[in-house]
Amino acid sequence: MSDDAISQDIPATPDIRIVLVGTQHPGNIGAAARAMKTMGLSQLVLVAPEKAPDRDTEAMAAGADDLVAAAPVHATLADAVADCALVLGCTARNRRVQLEQLDPREAAVRALAFAGQGPVALVFGRERTGLDNNELQLCHAAVHIPSDPAFSSLNLAAAVQVLSYEVRMQVLGVGTPAPAAAVIAREGLAQHAELEGFFAQLGEALEQIDFHKGRTPDSAMRKLRRLYLRAGLDSAEVRLLRGVLADTQRMAMLAGRGKIP
Ligand code: SAH
Repeated sequence: MSDDAISQDIPATPDIRIVLVGTQHPGNIGAAARAMKTMGLSQLVLVAPEKAPDRDTEAMAAGADDLVAAAPVHATLADAVADCALVLGCTARNRRVQLEQLDPREAAVRALAFAGQGPVALVFGRERTGLDNNELQLCHAAVHIPSDPAFSSLNLAAAVQVLSYEVRMQVLGVGTPAPAAAVIAREGLAQHAELEGFFAQLGEALEQIDFHKGRTPDSAMRKLRRLYLRAGLDSAEVRLLRGVLADTQRMAMLAGRGKIP
């Protein structure tokens, strides 16, 4: 077989990174790398692991240690996903997060739709406590594997396997379509860090116009984040919204409220 024929048989690796946050057992990092590599994913990213990869990692990776060796290590989740077009957070708890919730199939469909526009992150939490609320708020949507609610928490690497498998099925074109996840990924989608800059300015502007009137801003901010994240903003739209905010802040300042932005 020619090289061309071979390469046609091998699906392109999608620009999808698996981000492990605060992993406690180094063995799980290796097992997650193995889960990914079997499904054709290669980008492993670590955020503040409790212990550095060690012999347990290597043993559990069983040949996927190249992914661990190449894995960047970040101090925070925000750093790890700053350049991403889409960030999906996997959570064992079917809690009422103020986030759209997807099942793994829907997540895979959406991840592939966005992977053409920029990096996509699938984020996994700590073995004991999962992702905290601030980390989940950094995600565009939550992903829950519909496990038994009476025993809902999968092993970290098992959860990585389920998500990677669903991505694989979509890459191979044999996965069941999940129309509920059909969100149009457009060109020029804003990067995660641009959106966070917008949310920070939105928070400031709302304070300056006294929008919250003594209430805590958290609930309104979560709802606003959800609304804007659902919109799939591109960079030009983020700039437009920030322009509106800048004028709002200027008017608030002229009216004698708030601080100079
Ligand atoms: N006790 C933790 C469970 C953490 S399991 C908690 O209640 O959140 C480690 C990680 O595996 C989770 O943070 C999540 O990213 C992933 N995971 C485990 N079970 C999952 C499920 N049913 N659906 C989605 N992700 C899951």
